[in-house]
Amino acid sequence: MQSTSERKIVEAFAQAIISEGKYFAQGGKKDIDRLEEFLKDKKFLELPIRIFLQGLNLYSRIKSSKEFYLADESERQKMIEKMMKSRLLLLSAPCEILTLLLKFIHFYDKEVYEKLGCPWDKSPKFVAEPPYSKHILRCDDFADGETIECDVVVIGSGAGGAPVASFLAEKLIATVIIEEGKYYTRKDFTGQSYDSIRKFYRPIREMIAISNVPTIIPAGRLVGGSTAVNTGTCWRTPENILKKWSDELSLKELSPEKMSKYFERVENKIKVEEAKDKVIGPIKDVISKGADAMGLIHFRLKRNAPDCDGSAVCNFGCPTDARLSTNLSYIPDALKSGAVLITCAKAEKIIIENGKACGVEVKSTESGKRIKIRAKAVVVACGTIMTPVLLTKSGVKNSKLGKNLTIHPSVNVGAIFENEQISPHKYVPQAYCVDLREKGILLLHGGLPPEFAATQIPYIGKEFSNIMSKYENTAWFGALCEDRPSGMVFQLNGKPIIFYFLRERERRMLEEGVKVVAKIFFFAGAKEVFLPSRNIRSAKSISEIEKISNMKFSYIVGFHPLGTARMAKSPKYGVVDENHKTFGVKNLFVVDGSVVPTAIGVNPQVTIMALAERAAEKIAERF
Ligand SMILES: Cc1cc2nc3c(=O)[nH]c(=O)nc-3n(C[C@H](O)[C@H](O)[C@H](O)COP(=O)(O)OP(=O)(O)OC[C@H]3O[C@@H](n4cnc5c(N)ncnc54)[C@H](O)[C@@H]3O)c2cc1C
Repeated sequence: MQSTSERKIVEAFAQAIISEGKYFAQGGKKDIDRLEEFLKDKKFLELPIRIFLQGLNLYSRIKSSKEFYLADESERQKMIEKMMKSRLLLLSAPCEILTLLLKFIHFYDKEVYEKLGCPWDKSPKFVAEPPYSKHILRCDDFADGETIECDVVVIGSGAGGAPVASFLAEKLIATVIIEEGKYYTRKDFTGQSYDSIRKFYRPIREMIAISNVPTIIPAGRLVGGSTAVNTGTCWRTPENILKKWSDELSLKELSPEKMSKYFERVENKIKVEEAKDKVIGPIKDVISKGADAMGLIHFRLKRNAPDCDGSAVCNFGCPTDARLSTNLSYIPDALKSGAVLITCAKAEKIIIENGKACGVEVKSTESGKRIKIRAKAVVVACGTIMTPVLLTKSGVKNSKLGKNLTIHPSVNVGAIFENEQISPHKYVPQAYCVDLREKGILLLHGGLPPEFAATQIPYIGKEFSNIMSKYENTAWFGALCEDRPSGMVFQLNGKPIIFYFLRERERRMLEEGVKVVAKIFFFAGAKEVFLPSRNIRSAKSISEIEKISNMKFSYIVGFHPLGTARMAKSPKYGVVDENHKTFGVKNLFVVDGSVVPTAIGVNPQVTIMALAERAAEKIAERF
């Protein structure tokens, strides 16, 4: 905030929305500095917030002949509530955003964490360098303009790229992996959400879709890709989906029988097993009680973290190396077999000569230095959002490229209980589910740390703080749906422009999912549920839930983007063939989430890894 008066308005705003509570002080001065720090690299937010603050002050002067910060607290709260409820998006949206930011910032705090009995920094102080680390180079270790020769260059080290690199290197095929992100170890994984999101995720502007509902599509940008920040849930591709691919889409090689050995390989490599009760925590009993009362199927999820101790910060990097994401499984194996990993290295363009891919132009994300990697085959695994960007920029032509985006749209529901100690910050965020897949809906545990929980409580002032004082008695559970293609990705100067449209079919599916979660909570004894919608924000009974229709979601999150370079029988329907080779360009393969032909209705990392295992065999046959 630039002026003294703006700072005073923000301080008065923070005081009004956050009253003092059990683990925290009233909002105020401390929040202004943090807000300024937060907005430093987010100019697109700063201007609307500053205009809003002036508008709020003007409104206060008209209403009470006083500056906003001189009005008493209850008057300020009334003004804020009025703004939030305004039909004018120009008033309600910035008011809502400022409230969310201040709540988040206030609870993203060492003292709050310590009072909740939770260490603020979860990373170990010392981690020994693994022997394979000599195979990890930075793009800046090469001279500007240098050319490297290899058999295969794999672009991206996530769920798709890493299994391919590991398989090829084990077959003694000279493999170079290039990765835009940095190489981090567990001493970098503090568990602090905001810092981690800044370091380990793509920039926020690349994760927001242009949509009819605010839509976020998060993705990791580090060695391990999104697998290094994911929740560790593992499912094989459901059999009905594999049958649809093999029978209806004529992708015979993807039948359940033919895919089964690849799932086994993946599960052995990343050590998939059912989550243990000690890391699931009391949410299991809460959900079991409610789901049993409704006659629903519910069970523990499988995860790739057999030695998990429940640090509860999976989405910010695992501080104990328990989750065997690709940076801890496939990539080390690739490096031990002789592959080289080049980090901070962004593929700018695939070199295509006479219809054949023969390398990639790479730019250092640290210095802008450029190098070239010449190879006999190029494997693209940049993820569903970035792969179409790279392919389009490289001149690959296909009418389906960037289209058919599905994201498994998801929302989260909260609940407050009287006495149950659920303590979301002490257990893994996702380890239990309720299965409504017959309807294309999956209900998944989605535990939230205090700073995220605060943003979902639809109250301000005392009401808000009373709930946050009982954070340990809150529970969080989400709903996702198997969507039909409804989005696309374009590239502009090498950056993605994402469109996603939440259709009525998917909106209804999510609404049904939310209502079931809410009822489960009430059957388990919840006092109130918090809904992810703009028009109905909370409910206190099942009868209130039953009356709900036409929920307008505040926002949706698509953790599982798929399909933008999908596999198909012919270039009329997709971008790659059954062997993952792009139609029309020789020696160019795609192996990440973008090739998955349709949404699958469950978390997709094992699907992507299994497809990649199979693709690797096909690529290796050429050498
Ligand atoms: C927060 C979160 C939670 C999730 N939870 C689960 C879960 O519990 N279970 C599950 O199954 N799935 C989960 N997912 C989804 C799953 O992690 C992804 O579907 C999967 O990792 C996608 O694999 P990918 O290879 O397509 O992309 P990624 O794993 O994202 O890998 C792509 C890599 O390519 C790199 N890259 C991009 N562009 C370039 C370039 N031009 N040059 C060089 N490198 C580049 C990126 O930096 C990244 O490292 C979650 C995802 C997120 C974001």
